[in-house]
Amino acid sequence: MPPVLVASDLDRTLIYSAAALGLTVPDAEAPRLLCVEVYRGRPLSYLTETAARLLTELGEGGSAVFVPVTTRTREQYLRIGLPGPAPRYAICANGGHLLVDGVSDSGWHARVRARLAEECAPLDEVREHLVRTADPAWTRKQRSAEELFAYLVVERELLPEDWVKELAVWAENRGWTVSLQGRKIYAVPKPLTKSAAVREVARRTGAAPVLAAGDSLLDADLLLAADRGWRPGHGELADAGWTAPAITALAERGVLAGERIVREFLRAAGERP
Ligand SMILES: [Mg+2]
Repeated sequence: MPPVLVASDLDRTLIYSAAALGLTVPDAEAPRLLCVEVYRGRPLSYLTETAARLLTELGEGGSAVFVPVTTRTREQYLRIGLPGPAPRYAICANGGHLLVDGVSDSGWHARVRARLAEECAPLDEVREHLVRTADPAWTRKQRSAEELFAYLVVERELLPEDWVKELAVWAENRGWTVSLQGRKIYAVPKPLTKSAAVREVARRTGAAPVLAAGDSLLDADLLLAADRGWRPGHGELADAGWTAPAITALAERGVLAGERIVREFLRAAGERP
């Protein structure tokens, strides 16, 4: 029997910043947390100690191939220290980089680049549009990631809702998609998908079926391509009431949703904790 393929988004699905923990229980009853990312000398991302134990079991059990699937750049991904054995495969830059033992597969990357050149507007056009239309009053940073897509860091309270809607329409007409996650607005080429890279890992490993989890609009294609999936009770998909036949919408929010998701992965992989 082949192992199952567990393809999971990271931020706000498995790991959480302090601002995203969403803990509502009394402090004395809060779960203990494990810090899995340090940035500029400070703790940045966490999961519960229980989630850490379950993730280790999942990685060591042999019945699952665990693949982190993130919109993060390679650099941002590689500073995370997930519990358990280092995953052989990881997907970064929303599918633009397929890491094999930590190194980007150049053949995969070239294929992605060729597809983007053919199917959507170039990054420069999107970047120029963002520079021209984003108001410095609420824009903290403008960034491009891996020369593949762009994002803004914004003051969420000052961000006009209409501007985001107009940007989404503008982007749609150019083969791009817009996702708003916390303080970040992403503009990502539509052909740059997590699901395409996950299919490639499934092909290479023979792992099946595919289990997936994610919280944002950029995870919708990943969830739709999975045989079974879970999404937390918070996030862009939950806010939109998004669901699909093979997807379970969890009630848990924040870091406890992350723990529940790993538990579901483990159960579905056939190893009860
Ligand atoms: Mg996420």
